Order: sequence, then structure tokens, then C-alpha cells
Amino acid sequence: MGVRAYVGLGSNLGESEAILDSACTSLHAARGTRVLRRSANLRSAPVGGPAGQLDYHNGVVELETELQAEELLDLLQSIESDHGRRRSTEQRWGSRTLDLDLLLYGEVISESKRLVLPHPRLTGRMFVLVPLGELQPDLLLPHSGETVQTHLERLRESTSQVLR
Ligand code: ATP
Ligand code: CA
Ligand code: CA
Repeated sequence: MGVRAYVGLGSNLGESEAILDSACTSLHAARGTRVLRRSANLRSAPVGGPAGQLDYHNGVVELETELQAEELLDLLQSIESDHGRRRSTEQRWGSRTLDLDLLLYGEVISESKRLVLPHPRLTGRMFVLVPLGELQPDLLLPHSGETVQTHLERLRESTSQVLR
């Protein structure tokens, strides 16, 4: 039995929907990792970053993986780069062909130079909480002890983030 992990998918450059499909295929094909479920895609207006960006396509996948958390991050970054992501030339929160964020890795809470778990901005983002809530509304987030649904309801009351 591997670890249950959740990965956030994002793209706002190129053929975004096809890129997200292809990234899921790559994840499923990778050694020691399989995709159990995938949320519907949604579209969101960019949050932060430079002005004039196109809308994002977002989603979340549920994985079972035998990889250690940092190995999974390596896999995510290699799939990003296979899909044309060029970290060295991009602006913070700028447009990208593919962004794969490790949202949750089992119930692990940890912080290293490369990897913070759970993903630090997870509970402030509608484009993450909505698809994660579609898959697992009752999932308890390890750092708060509250469910995805509870976080989502709270964020809905306070946010101006736009989903389409
Ligand atoms: P955000 O993290 O706000 O969603 P981003 O996805 O645009 O922003 P990136 O440029 O993709 O940020 O990643 C910056 C760094 O974040 C990566 O080099 C990676 O080492 C680090 N990082 C830390 N924790 C995580 C995590 N849980 N998932 C993915 N990357 C992480
Ligand atoms: Ca991100
Ligand atoms: Ca990222």
C-alpha cells in the first residue's frame, strides 16, 4: 500500500486542456505511482503575478504512490519540464504551460528548502479547494484538523476569487 497524495494541476499557456490530460497520463505511467481519480477541470482568473495573463485551467488528481515525497516532487518537476515549463525564464506566478503542486502527501507535515507540506497556499485558493472538495470533501487537512469542505465554506465567505 502506497501513500495517498493530491496534486494540483494548472496551465494557462499553450493547449492547456490537452497539456493537463497529458500530464495525468505521464503521472499514471510513472514508476510507483498511479492516478486513482481526477476532478473536473475548471477555469480560474489568475491570482497574483503579472497583469494580462490568460485564465488558468485547473484540476486536482488523487494518487497512490510508492515514492517518497521529495521523489514525487522530482517526478512532478520532470513532467512540468517535459511539457515545456521553463522555470529559469519565468516571472513569479507568471504564465506557464504546466504547474504541478504537491498539495498533500498522506498526513505529512514537513518543511524543507524544496518542499513544504501541506502546500502552504492550499487553503487560500478556490481553484484548489473546489476540485479537491469534489474528490474528498471530508478529508481532514493535517495542519488544521478541519475538512476540505469547512475550509471551502470559510474561503467562499471571504474571497473575491473568480471561477468560471
Ligand atoms: P505557488 O507555490 O504559490 O503555487 P508556483 O507554483 O508558481 O507558486 P513554482 O515556481 O512552481 O511556484 O515553485 C517554486 C518552488 O516551490 C519549487 O521550486 C519547489 O521546490 C517549491 N515547493 C515547496 N513546496 C512545494 C509543494 N508542496 N509543491 C510544489 N512545489 C513546492
Ligand atoms: Ca502553483
Ligand atoms: Ca508549482
